[in-house]
Amino acid sequence: MTATIIDGKAIAAEIRQEIKAEVAALKEKYRKVPGLATVLVGDNPASQTYVRMKGRACEEVGIHSVRPTLPNDATQEQVEGLIRELNADPEIHGILVQLPLPSHLDEEAVLNTISIEKDVDGFHPVNIGRLAMKGREPLFVPCTPRGIMVLLERAGVTLEGSRAVVLGRSNIVGMPVSFLLLHANATVTICHSRTRDLPSVTREADVLVAAVGRPEMVRGDWVKPGAVVIDVGVNRVDDPSRKSGYRLVGDVAFNEVKEVASAITPVPGGVGPMTIAMLLQNTLQGFKRALSAEK
Ligand code: NDP
Repeated sequence: MTATIIDGKAIAAEIRQEIKAEVAALKEKYRKVPGLATVLVGDNPASQTYVRMKGRACEEVGIHSVRPTLPNDATQEQVEGLIRELNADPEIHGILVQLPLPSHLDEEAVLNTISIEKDVDGFHPVNIGRLAMKGREPLFVPCTPRGIMVLLERAGVTLEGSRAVVLGRSNIVGMPVSFLLLHANATVTICHSRTRDLPSVTREADVLVAAVGRPEMVRGDWVKPGAVVIDVGVNRVDDPSRKSGYRLVGDVAFNEVKEVASAITPVPGGVGPMTIAMLLQNTLQGFKRALSAEK
């Protein structure tokens, strides 16, 4: 069997087009556009790149974006003060604090300062708490897990009654995606670094989500024939044949697993592009909620 490749890049592009059209229609009707603030503290080059990419993605779909920056030695009060200003700004519907923060800052206190109405990353404890509870709705779902669910939906995967195995239990991917799969009525097993005999667990999965950050850890014989495999990992491995000296691989040994699975996401071009598309989607959702609150 050779798996169908779930093309996250194409699906994300489609979603960005849908968002662009909706933003234009709302602008026409209300003379207002959604606004996203990405807060950067310090000069971490990777964080600067991520913030720039997010700003550019906003521009492409007509979302207004601001990128307030504070110096490396900013105090807790300065960071929280900036967030409170953004909480009160009616032109801003989403606030994202680029992580990691410099180590002297209390990350949890900073994230707690973001209004849950503008928490487009979905990391506020109230939003995560609602996600974890039956019958409660978070105002926002974290972007990467939401992107994974959209990929599964657009690939036509039936989750109800299926056996899902998630490798990884991080706050940003493993844990929230497990809750989403559970809400979709899958039977979910969560694995981590202390799980014994991982391959015997992963072989039970109809849907396998790998988010461990270990290059090509999931081998062909870890996967049940016909399973759907979502590879979240983004890992750099040395590759002297490339100008950069490295290439990106996922947590799944793609060439082996594609011969066993029925569908698989590639790295790059699978989950990655969905994360930014979902950030735009969440910002639009915050904007629409603000518009209905005004009515
Ligand atoms: P974390 O490092 O926060 O979490 C990794 C998880 O994997 C932990 O729960 C850890 O277990 C588990 N783990 C680590 N090693 C093993 C092992 N050998 N066997 C079983 N479980 C293991 O990573 P993230 O969740 O933040 O990210 C995971 C991957 O996804 C990374 O490659 C990251 O770059 C990528 N990523 C991609 C995104 C995208 O948009 N495409 C977005 C976010 C992340 P324990 O809890 O016991 O330590």
